Amino acid sequence: AAKQRGPGTRVAYDPDIERQAGERFALMSRLGQDLQRDALFLVFQPQVCLSTGRIVGAEALLRWRTDAGLIPPGEFIPVAEKSVYIHAIGDRVVQQACEALKAIDAAGLNDLPLSVNVSARQFDAPGLAERVAAHCAEAGVELHRLALEITETAAMRNFSQVAQALRAHRAAGGIVAIDDFGTGQSSLEYLRDLPADHLKIDLSFVRHLEQDERCRQIASMIIKLGRSLGVGLIAEGVETRGQADWLRDNGCQTGQGWLFAKPLPLPEFIDFCRQHAELG
Ligand code: C2E
Ligand code: MG
Ligand code: MG
Ligand code: MG
Repeated sequence: AAKQRGPGTRVAYDPDIERQAGERFALMSRLGQDLQRDALFLVFQPQVCLSTGRIVGAEALLRWRTDAGLIPPGEFIPVAEKSVYIHAIGDRVVQQACEALKAIDAAGLNDLPLSVNVSARQFDAPGLAERVAAHCAEAGVELHRLALEITETAAMRNFSQVAQALRAHRAAGGIVAIDDFGTGQSSLEYLRDLPADHLKIDLSFVRHLEQDERCRQIASMIIKLGRSLGVGLIAEGVETRGQADWLRDNGCQTGQGWLFAKPLPLPEFIDFCRQHAELG
């Protein structure tokens, strides 16, 4: 229905907005039910050392299995972020990552670390670092095995709370990665105050490395910045050998992308690491 927004401003009726709100509501209530049914699960994408080819870690990415098929996180995370479910989802992701770390250890893949993505909304409730540490302690997993990935846009939203929680996570021995680096609207100032161990070069810069000189210049600048700050560099969305070679030759240590593997369910991920170890 048409809405009054303050005196004198009338917004025209837009059936699209109503349909989208309805769809969002339906998605949200299904998400609430499915949270109880373990329909949300993690898949794991290897991160590879670009000089040696060794697997040095993996990113855990969330999937939602429904009767209508898999719904990608890009569709349901933004909806979950507008609800209280994001907190339960965030806790579930950390718990599942801890279980995965135990399975990785049981498979004899020594000390491979995992990273999980954290939404800005999860920092609205205080004590995120403490909750993560508690989940790790409960699972008997050391904190340095778990990296938290946060986008710069998310960090800017609630800077002091985010910076404080990430500092606490690091002080306790945890790892922090800035995700999608270079795509946010933030200034470089936040890098000064945001503690990080890794910068992840966004796939939008990696995608056109071979064709586009400007992309190469930007990627090269990010790598130089990261190196001078003493943080590790991880390139996301590496799809071709040419991209991997350019990144390695220009000082980026680690790559993640379909060239190496798609995100895999845990058993397949463990098999992949084993085969990879035999080959390397
Ligand atoms: P992200 O953290 O930047 O993850 C990288 C995305 O790139 C993933 O999409 C991954 O599947 C995709 N990708 C990996 N390699 C390639 C490649 O070679 N080429 C291309 N074109 N894409 C590649 P995905 O899994 O759909 O996740 C999308 C975003 O959803 C993630 O971006 C992250 O921001 C968010 N997300 C995923 N899992 C979680 C989670 O557990 N919690 C929260 N809060 N957000 C999550
Ligand atoms: Mg990520
Ligand atoms: Mg990313
Ligand atoms: Mg991304």
